[in-house]
Amino acid sequence: MIDEKLQPILSTVLHRNAGEAEFHQAVREVLESLGRVIARHPEYADEALIERICEPERQIIFRVPWIDDNDQVQINRGFRVQFNSALGPYKGGVRFHPSVNIGIVKFLGFEQIFKNALSGLPIGGGKGGSDFDPKGRSDREIMRFCQSFMVELHRHIGEYVDVPAGDIGVGAREIGYMFGMYKRLNNRFEAGVLTGKGLVYGGSRARKEATGFGTVYFVRSMLENMGTDFEDKRCVVSGSGNVAIYAMQKINAFGGKVVACSDSGGVIIDEDGIDLDLVREIKEERRGRISEYAEAKGAGCTYKHGGNIWDVPCDLAFPCATQNELDGRDAKALIKNGVTVVAEGANMPCTPEAVKQFQAAGVRFAPGKAANAGGVATSALEMQQNASRDSWSFEKTEERLAEIMGNIHDSCVQTADEYGAPDDYVLGANIAGFLRVADAMRAMGVI
Ligand code: NDP
Repeated sequence: MIDEKLQPILSTVLHRNAGEAEFHQAVREVLESLGRVIARHPEYADEALIERICEPERQIIFRVPWIDDNDQVQINRGFRVQFNSALGPYKGGVRFHPSVNIGIVKFLGFEQIFKNALSGLPIGGGKGGSDFDPKGRSDREIMRFCQSFMVELHRHIGEYVDVPAGDIGVGAREIGYMFGMYKRLNNRFEAGVLTGKGLVYGGSRARKEATGFGTVYFVRSMLENMGTDFEDKRCVVSGSGNVAIYAMQKINAFGGKVVACSDSGGVIIDEDGIDLDLVREIKEERRGRISEYAEAKGAGCTYKHGGNIWDVPCDLAFPCATQNELDGRDAKALIKNGVTVVAEGANMPCTPEAVKQFQAAGVRFAPGKAANAGGVATSALEMQQNASRDSWSFEKTEERLAEIMGNIHDSCVQTADEYGAPDDYVLGANIAGFLRVADAMRAMGVI
């Protein structure tokens, strides 16, 4: 329920951003939490502060022409939404996926504001991407696309302005091509302009692992709070990309057992525990399909083409693929099968109906803006290393990541308690993130 004082803000957002369903969903979810803040501190509703948070500071949409391997000209659309810079330069990933549009980029940018605030690091919120589909494209095509994308983007970014990173469809390869073009266009080796870089030219150790590892660190704190741990817990992780792979690695390290993962083609179930080396070989080296896992494993592993991973019974569920991949029906199936914790490795993978079901059933639920903040936090550590021309060890970086995730967890719990909603991580994350951004915005006046 949205407080009646905040209802006009939502109405304006819906009207001004017509048709952007995911953006509406993300704003509604935050506004639902803020009623308790303005009831206690009405000054946070002054000077249209919440209205200003819901309006991006800048939105850039551009043409990306490139030439494919058949010598044909292709046109894609590029986006960068610079949402809020109250806490630092805009920071957030770039997504290449055919589903990308301005509404998706705005939802991701909006979430990023609060996530980055929760990390406690000096970074604002932004997001970008393109409707370019990298699947089936050659290395050369990927390079030409990334170069063309950067020919426009370079005018809008910089280490003190806006620092993009990876997301769906954008990993170290794409960041490398984009960084190369940025360097050429600007004639500056400005390492801090992009994060997720390769280690040899300014990347950070543990950045690749950070989002997945961070989510599992967050869940470890949740389990500790419940008086338990990962030992022998059955886990299900959707997706088999960057976040999913490193979430699975850390679950295994903490003594849990992952029995299923997926891609957009289907689901694999392996009761012996997912063989992560094989998944990495298929996904990171061959850029193949998860169905190849079942082909390689033979009997003992099931592949369900188009299957629903949330029907697989588990104690802990980690949606790590994409937005709205887990709905009310899926939540009911998970609850029926005894799930106790659900943590979003992806951004907004659970629909509002699913979240409601989990909370009503007493399932502990961690929203993405808290649980997957380890990626952007480690990106900020990469910026820190670039600024000091330093390179930290894996251990030191992971130690900082673990500490940050522990702090985010505690801040969610404390804030939820303080606002009368114990164990409500959604409310805790939204309010704690909001207060940090709002305090900075209030100090800076109406800008
Ligand atoms: P990847 O591109 O590495 O992997 C994405 C995975 O999700 C793939 O297995 C992909 O399958 C699957 N997937 C993507 N879109 C769909 C879809 N529409 N339906 C079903 N499955 C889909 O991306 P990441 O792992 O980097 O990102 C995953 C999620 O985590 C996203 O929500 C992202 O915003 C979020 N995130 C990522 C961070 C990072 O550091 N990378 C940081 C914080 C959040 P297929 O290959 O078949 O498409």
